[in-house]
Amino acid sequence: MTLTNRDAKYIWHPYTQHYKGNKHIVIDHASGSYLFDQDGKKYIDAISSWWVILHGHSHPYIAEKVIKQLGKLDQVIFAGFTHEPAIQLAEKLLNILPPSQQKVFYTDNGSTAIEVALKMCIQFWYNQNQPRSKILAFKNAYHGDTFGAMSVSARGTWTAPFKNQMFEVIYIDTPDSNNLEDLQKIIETHAADLACFIFEPLVQGSAGMLMHKAEHLDQLMALCRRNGILMIQDEVFTGFGRTGRNFAADHLQQQADILCFSKGLTGGTMPLGITTCSSEIYAAFLAEDNLKTLFHGHSFTANPLACAAAAASLDLLAEPDCQAAIQRIAALHSTFATSIELHPLVRSVRQTGTILAIEWETGEGTSYFNGLRDWLYNFFLDKGIILRPLGNIIYILPPYCISNADLEEIYAAILEALDLKLR
Ligand SMILES: *Cc1c(COP(=O)(O)O)cnc(C)c1O
Repeated sequence: MTLTNRDAKYIWHPYTQHYKGNKHIVIDHASGSYLFDQDGKKYIDAISSWWVILHGHSHPYIAEKVIKQLGKLDQVIFAGFTHEPAIQLAEKLLNILPPSQQKVFYTDNGSTAIEVALKMCIQFWYNQNQPRSKILAFKNAYHGDTFGAMSVSARGTWTAPFKNQMFEVIYIDTPDSNNLEDLQKIIETHAADLACFIFEPLVQGSAGMLMHKAEHLDQLMALCRRNGILMIQDEVFTGFGRTGRNFAADHLQQQADILCFSKGLTGGTMPLGITTCSSEIYAAFLAEDNLKTLFHGHSFTANPLACAAAAASLDLLAEPDCQAAIQRIAALHSTFATSIELHPLVRSVRQTGTILAIEWETGEGTSYFNGLRDWLYNFFLDKGIILRPLGNIIYILPPYCISNADLEEIYAAILEALDLKLR
């Protein structure tokens, strides 16, 4: 049996309707911004393998650090014990975060980083005998697929089967130049019941790369601060250079109480999640009373290999070459965005740093563009480019090592697709 057939026989894939009997492409190896399938076909990984790869695949520096760590210490229980990679990574990360962030809590993916953040906020109030049950979140939010993370994400078809199992959330629009007064009213009405406000800063990735301005988010954050609402900033997607700066936090004046990280944290090599918090949050759990403990942990909490990978990835991120690459990608994106924004099939082009999104005109009300998403996906795949449209939105989210030539190839393919559909 071929690998493809064996896959179909045994494996249940994420976000996949298997009824259609779809075939999965078998990837054999990867290097830099390329993936190679078992027949040797090369693909440009224009979406960083679901937003995680930062410096390119199988980066030799990260590989070296992980291999070295594997020979020394593979895994150890993280209650009662600790290890150098976890300590080193915590120091390195806190060093480049806003000063409000003082403690690092480890998990192993983005959703669990969010779960921990929510628990920190809810228990923060509980520990002080002022329980608060509601959460404030953005419309169109996405914070992950576990129950807590799903609860504070937008409700829709994906979450419909579980609607009775989710907790109470108040949804608000993202801030703009006109709506601050409306947001203020909502916040003031609910302030006393709110355990926290959770948000994706600047870019709402899964919703289709929806963007809002740092200036407006700052105003909203200041409003939350004035009303005593704890803030969870979900940097799972925006962290580690995607927005053109190390973190979305680096575009903001206001500081959240809690930050969440995953995806690019290890440069995309290993699963790891981090929730950081202020000393004020941490202090609310310090007590002789054992019941004030944060009772949360995963078997692989602070896995030494993942911590070593993350520390290595942070080294690479800090290098001038990497910082220059981020600016180079942002500049090329910007030139391309300007060149297509008047194309009749382009409804809008949005960019924040290395993230570029193009929303297609779908001719709403007609059925002409039904299946546009699948058509686009296959069009690019045929050309050896992995782009995974979110409905009628194409986005480019490359690893920072991508060459100008490869970026130009992606832009040209997008333009070709636009022109083909125009005919
Ligand atoms: C992907 C994502 C998550 C969830 O991370 P997983 O590692 O997939 O569980 C949470 N928040 C944001 C903003 C994300 O983009």
